[in-house]
Amino acid sequence: MDLADLTRDLDALRLRALAAVAAAPDTATLEAIEVDVLGKKGELTSVLRGIGALPPDDRPRVGAVANTVRGAIEAALADRRSGLASSELAARLERERLDVTTPGRPLRHGSLHPSIQAMAEIAGIFEQFGFVVHESQEIEDDLTNFQMLNIPPDHPARDLWDTLYVDVPGHLLRTHTSPGQIRVMQAMRPPIRALLPGRCFRYESVDASHGFEFFQVEGLMVDEGTTLADLKGLLDQFAQAMFGTGKKTRFRPGYYPFTEPSVAFDVECLVCGGPGCPACGRSGWMTILGAGMVHPVVLQYGGLDPERYQGFAFGMGPERISMLKHGISDLRLFMDNDLRFLDQFR
Ligand SMILES: [Zn+2]
Repeated sequence: MDLADLTRDLDALRLRALAAVAAAPDTATLEAIEVDVLGKKGELTSVLRGIGALPPDDRPRVGAVANTVRGAIEAALADRRSGLASSELAARLERERLDVTTPGRPLRHGSLHPSIQAMAEIAGIFEQFGFVVHESQEIEDDLTNFQMLNIPPDHPARDLWDTLYVDVPGHLLRTHTSPGQIRVMQAMRPPIRALLPGRCFRYESVDASHGFEFFQVEGLMVDEGTTLADLKGLLDQFAQAMFGTGKKTRFRPGYYPFTEPSVAFDVECLVCGGPGCPACGRSGWMTILGAGMVHPVVLQYGGLDPERYQGFAFGMGPERISMLKHGISDLRLFMDNDLRFLDQFR
């Protein structure tokens, strides 16, 4: 191999490399060309291995040609690389084009559960009469849940509240919100106007009108000279506010160990308005809550003198109120978490 051969090979390599660089479709191909031509084991290196066979005088000349070839290829690579980079960026921008004026996708938002909505509505009405919402505790002791409410251990009325007990002896999941009456009376002095909404639990089989877990709203008013007429007037106002003005109401005798006398409070049937229909059992009335004058024993457990103070209490199921109001026939819907039901209360 002589000088002319080497120079010819270098020139051919230059032309081949420049053509490949010009045709490279992307930067990855350029990388490969660079390694193949200029790399340690590349074509240029292998051509230059022939230099050793040349006469010493010729070697610098081949070296100069080789440098020119290397410089030309490196310049072409750099040029092509920057051209490809800007067109690849343009392609990527086109591919990931973002129209910032496009309207956003709405996020689904939650809403208050219908039981909570009913409790808020009930509380809103009684707040107008000076009642203040108190929260009591879901785990109660037997004493407060039963005995202080005039339900001693052997009392047959305990059967009305099938109880779920917890591991701590003498403690249970409250079966009603009524123990909150005791806690409020023990904590404050009359006049008391307290509203006690909360979750209750009973060991009970579930059907269309019973659940083992449900809400109650308890009300308690204690002052000097409180009478059954005050209770009737308040509940009348409540019924008008909740179900509409002009609704007839009535008291019927009822029974609760912790009130004396005890009453059931009825409102005229919201479906038929009086004549009787299947919804009201053909009676023309719907029972919305139970109430009564606080039993003197309960006042005493609350630390109040029954000779001086009188009070009334009432308790209702917010789900039942909601069922009556919206014509819902099955209590289980409130605990099923079915969005088709819940969405109707958004
Ligand atoms: Zn009816």
